[in-house]
Amino acid sequence: MSDVTTLLPEIVTEVPGPRSRELAKRLADVESRNVTCLAPDAPIFWERASGANVVDVDGNRYVDLGAGFGVANVGHAHPRVVSAVQEQAEALLHGMGDVHPSALKVRLLEALAARFPGGGPVRTVLASSGSDAVETALKTVMIATGRAGVVAFEGGYHGLSLGALDATARSGFREPFRARLPGATVFARYGDAEDAERAAARCTEPVGAVLVEPIQGRGGERVPPEGFLRALRALCDRRGWLLILDEVYTGFGRTGRWFACEHEAVVPDLLCLGKGLASGMPLSACMGRAEVMDAWPTSSGEALHTQTYLGHPPSCAAALASLAVLEEEGLVERAARLGERALAILRAGSAGREAVREVRGRGLMIGIACDGAERAARVTRRCLETGVILLPSGDDGSVLSITPPIVIGERALHFALDVVLGCLS
Ligand code: PLP
Repeated sequence: MSDVTTLLPEIVTEVPGPRSRELAKRLADVESRNVTCLAPDAPIFWERASGANVVDVDGNRYVDLGAGFGVANVGHAHPRVVSAVQEQAEALLHGMGDVHPSALKVRLLEALAARFPGGGPVRTVLASSGSDAVETALKTVMIATGRAGVVAFEGGYHGLSLGALDATARSGFREPFRARLPGATVFARYGDAEDAERAAARCTEPVGAVLVEPIQGRGGERVPPEGFLRALRALCDRRGWLLILDEVYTGFGRTGRWFACEHEAVVPDLLCLGKGLASGMPLSACMGRAEVMDAWPTSSGEALHTQTYLGHPPSCAAALASLAVLEEEGLVERAARLGERALAILRAGSAGREAVREVRGRGLMIGIACDGAERAARVTRRCLETGVILLPSGDDGSVLSITPPIVIGERALHFALDVVLGCLS
């Protein structure tokens, strides 16, 4: 194991410290105001991170219960990932991903294909962000079925670029851009496959796919009832729709399986991946069964869908290293084991507390549903002051999201969970 020795927090200034505060002031002058929340009590500016520890510019050390938006599954700056990126950066920093690609792209796509739930043959389109992967999936639906309509779910989050945003449920994200959204998505109740079929009847476009997160991430770590994915698979098969699983958050061991759909042995038609794929390098992928993906026309020099940085060599190198680390360090099993223990600790520690409505999750994707957003914000703030980083999630911000690096040391995990429980009281 590369990191069973997560250090406990060490807070040496007020939080945020003076350097963070000074940087926040400067940032206010130069960054668009919608991006970073510059509250009096946040942000801290990160200076370095390794494993499950983060150190800010004031020298405060934290335990990270968020893995940087669920990205650092193998830990921040895993030495194997770092040296893979360094070596690749020196050899070939940038290639021509869809014209004269690097050998790494081939190796990575082969490695991903070998992991595809249900096996191959599989085809993949690489990109940079999770939203990109969702865009590719939505385009694939049009190419493969000729239909634009999609059934997605209340509470679902698939990214904020315009195509993905059309399938992201939260109205706060959608409203300002409504006139630019095609409106080809209908939203069903999460966890209810029958409602998905009912919702499809309301769609203004013929439906080509169901798009779903196996566990909702930003929606508040919502775990659907057992059998939900299987029911969606059956629905899609019956209606001739494609099943798109958005595993941008749940993929790469986060829930105690390589992919969360494996808990129900469900095989998707299209699979969206990001975040933990390259452990901190910006890389994403839309994978699909060959019989669906082969609807795309063969490129004759002008790719119908691509990006400048498609197959970015250092990101591919990071992904290959990250896949090897997940496998060789047994991190998928570790997520299952630590997750079970963490759930038990949090459930026992919060039983009977008014502040907590529910503790839920799978693997190291855990949510503590609080009695309101104010509570979640207060706990988040108090945790940060004590040296524990976590974020609120859920449409109303009332859920505390616990998605630590899977390599987190057990002592530090227990310590951090105690801090969270302490701050809840
Ligand atoms: N899909 C899911 C399930 C996500 O959780 C996210 C981001 O949180 C996205 C898509 C969008 O990814 P990105 O922010 O990299 O565009």
